[in-house]
Amino acid sequence: MTKQRFETVKKRDFLKMGAIGVGAIALSRYVPFLAGIAPTGDTQTAVKRDADTADSEAGFEITKTEAEWRKALTPEEFAVLRQEKTERPFSSPLDKLSTAGTYSCAGCGLPLFSSKTKFDSGTGWPSFYAPLEDAVATRTDRSFLMERTEVHCRRCGGHLGHVFNDGPAPTRKRYCMNGVALNFTAA
Ligand code: FE
Repeated sequence: MTKQRFETVKKRDFLKMGAIGVGAIALSRYVPFLAGIAPTGDTQTAVKRDADTADSEAGFEITKTEAEWRKALTPEEFAVLRQEKTERPFSSPLDKLSTAGTYSCAGCGLPLFSSKTKFDSGTGWPSFYAPLEDAVATRTDRSFLMERTEVHCRRCGGHLGHVFNDGPAPTRKRYCMNGVALNFTAA
């Protein structure tokens, strides 16, 4: 009797663990948001960048001081582009936009993505399967106990989002972008 109860409990715990596991996998898709934009007044500095970033940052065509970027950008743009924060999912009007046109960097105006490669990933962030040629650069992001590929504007270094290998054909890539980091111009 005791043994039977023990096994029942064990089974229940096992099921619970399974549920937690599934939940964690589902959640991992949204983990970037867990690092999301903090309420106003946040003074937390950007996640410490890898050593390899220092090399890529040295070559950006457009550079500004932090004060200059703060002046040039909205607080939301600054938080994402310059501090690598993540906007709240489903918060960008660009997420569901399907109009033909071009998405450019909100920091420097460089055209980054065409509406031709945009798709609805269901994540709540504007998603593309490919960037325009010579538009973005990437680096390894090891923050939040994960290894992800960070995507930034190749001209000003502004943080845009991350790229994952679960996108649609033909590239199978999913460029998961912060809408606030992009400006849309209709074709
Ligand atoms: Fe830029």
